[in-house]
Amino acid sequence: MSRLVLASNNVKKAAELSALLEPLGLEVIPQGALGVGEAEEPHATFIENALAKARHAARETGLPALADDSGLCVHALGGLPGVQSARFAGEPKSDARNNEQLLSRLADVDDRRAFFYCLLVLLRHEADPHPLIADGQWNGEILRAPRGDNGFGYDPLFLLPEMDQTAAELDGALKNTLSHRAQAMRHLLTRLQANPL
Ligand code: IMP
Repeated sequence: MSRLVLASNNVKKAAELSALLEPLGLEVIPQGALGVGEAEEPHATFIENALAKARHAARETGLPALADDSGLCVHALGGLPGVQSARFAGEPKSDARNNEQLLSRLADVDDRRAFFYCLLVLLRHEADPHPLIADGQWNGEILRAPRGDNGFGYDPLFLLPEMDQTAAELDGALKNTLSHRAQAMRHLLTRLQANPL
């Protein structure tokens, strides 16, 4: 098995990525297990933040590094909350206050189009000029009131019009096959199969 450091300490993400990458002979190790702290995420785009996180983890460990960055983009808000998704309503981060903030920003807005976006970056080493990049986009609409208890973040406001369900009303396993993250992971697998580490 080759070791790969994950630039996140999110246990659920580590488990999902391990399941995907173990069949390729890659062991996914969360950066915290190697004593690596969180990197700064100061940038305006998902790709810049994911690259910064992966580069930090690769530099600190000397291992290939995988990072992700994700969030919600709303057309009528010029892509906001975007990279600010986790802290749209400021500190301390709160899903409930983020959802309230989103509803109030869209109170007088008819265009409710939005998408979740996920970007994954895999750097073979700190100075890798050709990182593997994979993304996923999940289109929907922002409701005027929350629906559903599953999931996290903006899920209760994110309607999938063709299913007439929010991401928080979907069964978790189904969400994990449809979501922006699932799509990005499938693309990463294709990229890795074409470009083995
Ligand atoms: P992270 O990149 O996984 O830390 O996600 C950043 C933020 O984007 C989260 O704190 C959520 O607010 C939002 N987000 C990302 N993915 C999802 C999702 O699948 N459902 C709901 N919110 C999400």
